[in-house]
Amino acid sequence: MITVDRVGKTYDRFVALGDVSLTIGDNEFVTIVGPSGCGKTTLMNILAGLETPTSGQALVDGKAIDGPGPDRGVIFQQYALFPWLTVRKNVEFGLRTARVPRAERRDRAQHFIDLVGLHDFADALPRTLSGGMKQRCAIARAYAVNPSILLMDEPFGAVDALTRVRLQEQLLRTWGREKRTVVFITHDVDEAVFLANRVVVMAARPGRIVEVIDVDLPYPRTEELRLSPAFTALRNRVWSAVYHQEPVA
Ligand code: ADP
Ligand code: MG
Repeated sequence: MITVDRVGKTYDRFVALGDVSLTIGDNEFVTIVGPSGCGKTTLMNILAGLETPTSGQALVDGKAIDGPGPDRGVIFQQYALFPWLTVRKNVEFGLRTARVPRAERRDRAQHFIDLVGLHDFADALPRTLSGGMKQRCAIARAYAVNPSILLMDEPFGAVDALTRVRLQEQLLRTWGREKRTVVFITHDVDEAVFLANRVVVMAARPGRIVEVIDVDLPYPRTEELRLSPAFTALRNRVWSAVYHQEPVA
């Protein structure tokens, strides 16, 4: 359903993306991992419709992407919540814009608030929430408008290691119950393997895909799995693909 067809992106003469091709099927959970500056965010912005490629094209369901759309929900590292709105109002926000009637708005917001485990905080303001809770709220908000694709750019980059693991488990539970196509960017190799059914490894100068690794591990993924030899083998494989690149800095 997502096709990236020989996409290049150049800023002046700087090649942020060389020649990237990738196909992502319905309800896949694909993670993109690579060093800082390899063009992950550029690729994500192209999929979000926030930037246009200099060459090639990106398509959703065979249609060229020509701007942001309700078929794609975007979640960034910074908690992009409205500080003056409660969790519930934040989650309802996109539905309000889409003119969804009040009762349905409430129901849908409540459904996703429950799903991300924020039922006790529905009427709280963002500043009273922990970083992890804010990101769960952002996930509920993205889900609420019912996009078929979720684009996540290092969403768990700003939280501590244990919270991060909890957020990964929470996200997989949500995805398990409400399947969507997820493109999840990270520079954390463990996170990339734990979440994905496929890991795309990128390298810099120019930004490009160097390897695509199938993660043939069953869902639901558990903490035991994270400690298993099968997981470790995959993690080591992805790590080598990331590590054995020309150092940029
Ligand atoms: P990543 O997310 O993998 O860290 P980015 O996609 O943010 O990488 O950036 C890839 C490269 O493109 C970086 O070297 C960055 O400096 C450059 N770049 C990104 N956006 C712009 C821009 N608007 N103008 C010039 N260079 C940019
Ligand atoms: Mg980035």
